[in-house]
Amino acid sequence: MNHPPAPLSTWARNVSPSPTLAVDAKAKALQAAGEDVCGFAAGEPDFDTPEHIKEACIAALRGGKTKYAPTPGIEPLRQAIVDRYAAEYGLKAAPSQVIVSPGGKFNCYLAVLATCSPGDEVIVPAPYWVSYPEMVKLAGAVPKFVLADDRTGFRLTPAMVEAAITPKTRLLILNSPSNPTGAVYSRAELEAIVAVALKHNLYILSDEMYEHLIYDGARPTCIATFSPEVEARTITVAGFSKTYAMTGWRIGTTVAPAPVAKAIAELQSQMSSNVTTFAQYGALAALKEKEKTAAAVQKMLVAFDRRRKFLHAELNQIPGITCLLAEGAFYLFPNVGSFGLKDLDFCNRLLDEERVAAVPGSAFGAEGYLRVSYATSDEIIAKGVSRLARFCATLKK
Ligand SMILES: *Cc1c(COP(=O)(O)O)cnc(C)c1O
Repeated sequence: MNHPPAPLSTWARNVSPSPTLAVDAKAKALQAAGEDVCGFAAGEPDFDTPEHIKEACIAALRGGKTKYAPTPGIEPLRQAIVDRYAAEYGLKAAPSQVIVSPGGKFNCYLAVLATCSPGDEVIVPAPYWVSYPEMVKLAGAVPKFVLADDRTGFRLTPAMVEAAITPKTRLLILNSPSNPTGAVYSRAELEAIVAVALKHNLYILSDEMYEHLIYDGARPTCIATFSPEVEARTITVAGFSKTYAMTGWRIGTTVAPAPVAKAIAELQSQMSSNVTTFAQYGALAALKEKEKTAAAVQKMLVAFDRRRKFLHAELNQIPGITCLLAEGAFYLFPNVGSFGLKDLDFCNRLLDEERVAAVPGSAFGAEGYLRVSYATSDEIIAKGVSRLARFCATLKK
């Protein structure tokens, strides 16, 4: 028995590790070594989970909520999710259409697995959230990227979607507000795109993870409410991670047409079972104790909005950088193409020379940009952006 072990699977060899987590990890390692790093790479709120949510989880844990629960979620949580969609958007869904999964990322993956077979094509708007292409590939399907750059506000037009559709297209992914650009589509823009999807009988995965992190009076759109035909084809993913500063809890939500919901629950029953039972009681408190939750979210929104405006103004002061004022999430996506550097080199040098961590646009399928997260303190933003300005000045010479 002298030969080496057999090669790993196609899946193992084809998957790319998350580049956003990689940059964040490198920055954190420098920080741990005592370096003064300004981190713009984070993909999570810098706030702690609101106290009443933690308390509800602790009470559930003490109260013995430590056993398996129904795979798609505890009944009161699924009902509370139904109630909040009805209250916020007028969406009428039954609790059986709701699946609570271990993180919105897994909700998205299950949606792809439930709708796509090997060889099917999935339209992925770029700049995209880093996990979409990988989860499509893990389903054996093929991502088809359609790039909308800053000239169209990082938003696709119906014609761009239409041009990417082939007889093999199965699924269209939409993500508004967007990670990484913060772009928010208007309801009318989404209606026009969804009409194209409907015409070609596509499923739609609408990732509405950032629905509540939205500014300047913009309003979130719940695509599934457009019409019964749209609802029958739309899988809505959202969750607790971003809105309530609960990234480590691993709780996401899906609302799907009944046959899709059933398939997703069955897949989940073999892949992960239920989300941690006592954690679901924390999520339930987030939805039930409405006033406390709203106050906590409002505080975060005020901070995010202040930082967003400050960072946007500062970035646009830097010669060579142009940056749109995004209306959602907690990211800006400045264009750094004028410096003539690959964005990966730009980011590596920025971290090495100025100890500023940002993620290159190419990680999101858009070369020439940076993703800058403002889910960090005002002080770090101010310090980091002045270091960025100093770095850019050295490039200009
Ligand atoms: C953060 C994020 C998710 C999933 O978040 P979880 O931490 O897995 O709940 C899904 N989609 C987008 C666009 C995100 O940024």
